Amino acid sequence: MKRALYPGSFDPLTLGHINIIERALDIFDAITVLVALNPQKKPLFSVEQNLAMIREATQQWPQVDVDHASGLVVQYGREHGISHAVRGLRAVTDFEVEFSMALTNRELSMQFDTVFLMTSLDYMYLHSSVVRQVAEMGGDVTKFVPGGVERRLRQHYGHS
Ligand code: ADP
Repeated sequence: MKRALYPGSFDPLTLGHINIIERALDIFDAITVLVALNPQKKPLFSVEQNLAMIREATQQWPQVDVDHASGLVVQYGREHGISHAVRGLRAVTDFEVEFSMALTNRELSMQFDTVFLMTSLDYMYLHSSVVRQVAEMGGDVTKFVPGGVERRLRQHYGHS
């Protein structure tokens, strides 16, 4: 069985992320969505809350696992026998960051490779940061995030 990691901040999970997961499942048998904890970033939700939200939004796929890691993605891959990561590409600006990250990961582990999926037209503008801004100002984010995430964003910002 071929499993791939889908690492990211998912702060919060958007329909753009869901689209990548769904399409990655056409390529890989199973996916581990890996919430990568970055000590320099303060996420909106606690790790537990975020994992629960992602689990809820992906529950229709039994082949999707959700986990978190504070170390290197390649290290997590090594420990769990996973040698591929999936990442999404929206614009040229994503390319530069993704390019250097993929090469760095290969440098760290020659066995590790990254597969890129081009965003779907519907989600090419969709960034977690924009969702956070709109939700904070009380805007409707139902078109951008799964239902459970939308509910929790409203609670979080006191707009429920
Ligand atoms: P990170 O901080 O690691 O970039 P993100 O949660 O922002 O974490 O993104 C995780 C991955 O999902 C990245 O590869 C990113 O390019 C991809 N991604 C995020 N939003 C979209 C989208 N709307 N369409 C396609 N890929 C996306």
